[in-house]
Amino acid sequence: MLIDCPFCDVTIDAHERGTVTRQDEQIPHHTTHLLECPRCGEPIVAGQDLVHLYLDVMDWTIAKRLWPSPQKYSTTGLPNIVSTSIEEAEKCYKGKAYIACAVMCGRAIEAICKDNQTKSSNIAAGLKELLEKQIIDSKIYQWAEALRLHRNIGAHANDEVISKEDAQDLLDFTKAICDYIYLLTEKFKTFMERKQSLKDNHQL
Ligand SMILES: [Zn+2]
Repeated sequence: MLIDCPFCDVTIDAHERGTVTRQDEQIPHHTTHLLECPRCGEPIVAGQDLVHLYLDVMDWTIAKRLWPSPQKYSTTGLPNIVSTSIEEAEKCYKGKAYIACAVMCGRAIEAICKDNQTKSSNIAAGLKELLEKQIIDSKIYQWAEALRLHRNIGAHANDEVISKEDAQDLLDFTKAICDYIYLLTEKFKTFMERKQSLKDNHQL
């Protein structure tokens, strides 16, 4: 079965290790496949639906990966200065360059400080400023601090290593911070504006 392996980042002909088919009145409608990548041996879960093509002709759709979820993070809505760093961090992660990935995650935080025009060019002071201005809350501040410290490990030559798991977490924290500052804050603002305009219309 052809599927994209997120670990190898290529389309592979996966080995099938098991399936579960759901049926309605003895007619199958969805199959979940447990697959194994022949290159890296990692497990992948994919799903397929049985669809009606015409008259009584049915066929299975192309298998879609269900797990691990698509790795690509949408940087739409983020300032360019921030999205470039995240895209680079993802490339480093995929290329197994975990120290470089940590440095790029730190660069994204630096870009967030720049975009919010913090007075200090120093990331530690910049983050404190973002906290004081309530652009981030204390939990996000802690995550950003962890990113800053790992960026320092990555940016200076020393014996400390950054594991794959650390790099994955740093990448997740970076994306969560961006979602919080840029996407969710904006979404909440639009949501409140919509509520307010409904209220105004009712009063007219
Ligand atoms: Zn693979």
